[in-house]
Amino acid sequence: MGLRGSKERPYLRKEGTKPLTLNTDKGMQRTEMAERPKVLRAAVNKILHHSVVDGPGNRAAVFFQGCNFHCAYCHNPETIAMCTSCGHCVEVCPAGALTLQNGKVRWQQELCCECDRCIHECAHLASPRTKDYTAGEIMEEIRKDLPFIRGLTVSGGECSMQRDFVVELFRLAKAEGLSTLMDSNGSYDYSKDEELLAVCDGVMLDIKAFDEEEHKKLTGQSREMVLKNAVYLAGCGKLEEIRTVVVPEFLSGEETVEKVGQMLEPYLKEQKIRYKIIAYRPFGVRVPYKETLRSPSAEELERCKEIAKSYGFSEVVVI
Ligand code: SF4
Ligand code: SF4
Repeated sequence: MGLRGSKERPYLRKEGTKPLTLNTDKGMQRTEMAERPKVLRAAVNKILHHSVVDGPGNRAAVFFQGCNFHCAYCHNPETIAMCTSCGHCVEVCPAGALTLQNGKVRWQQELCCECDRCIHECAHLASPRTKDYTAGEIMEEIRKDLPFIRGLTVSGGECSMQRDFVVELFRLAKAEGLSTLMDSNGSYDYSKDEELLAVCDGVMLDIKAFDEEEHKKLTGQSREMVLKNAVYLAGCGKLEEIRTVVVPEFLSGEETVEKVGQMLEPYLKEQKIRYKIIAYRPFGVRVPYKETLRSPSAEELERCKEIAKSYGFSEVVVI
């Protein structure tokens, strides 16, 4: 059975569909959706019409809600979980921009003063300021930007959790001549998804820590799939960029850059892969990490940069 048929994706809502049991040509039974028009919707936290930090050139960037990692240093922790409509933020909103309607929290953007009180008060690491979009609606949002952008990047949260939606969106983007990139934590097995990689020009992959224990300490998840993806994507020319956030004392940044360099060195002779080294900064980070983590010095960042350069990354960017 193909990947798509074998995965349940409860975070995607399909309208106008109902489950149907089909017999396959191998005599097995499987659950599929009836052949009626399917409309995928995904919760979007933010759409940037112009971004120069989410891949090369000027790009539109879509940030999905929901992530399967829980990084201690997450700068947007309100994108991790889906809103449960508990209603707490409705009570604290000073602008009356939030209401509960039929048990669902509703956000009125035109009333919102962007004070961020809702996301600071949310105990669930969610945000009420998301909108459900179809892929077509996102393309309509960015249509007027088409003459000025060269591509579309999907990020998050974790964009691969919206895999089916991303395939649909990227098909539409490619029809408009846009290049397509994913900014991913690497938890998804890209090696089993030819359909996705056929419409995705490249993955900007976070390697947050090379050491397994460090990775678990930071994210709550193993780094095994992340490293497998790095090698697989490099092997098929779809590794656009590696990203590592440097957090002295908490993570071994230099060691991660070194090990990543060793792992990818065979591919770096044949193709261009960028390494983005990102300085940890406390903005948006949750307490208590905000108070315990330290930003790296210029010298510490420079050492990471030199290590990456020594392995032949086509470009090493420090931000
Ligand atoms: S954003 Fe958070 S506080 Fe507000 S309704 Fe959703 S879960 Fe509750
Ligand atoms: S940011 Fe949140 S709390 Fe502040 S006005 Fe907007 S919806 Fe209300």
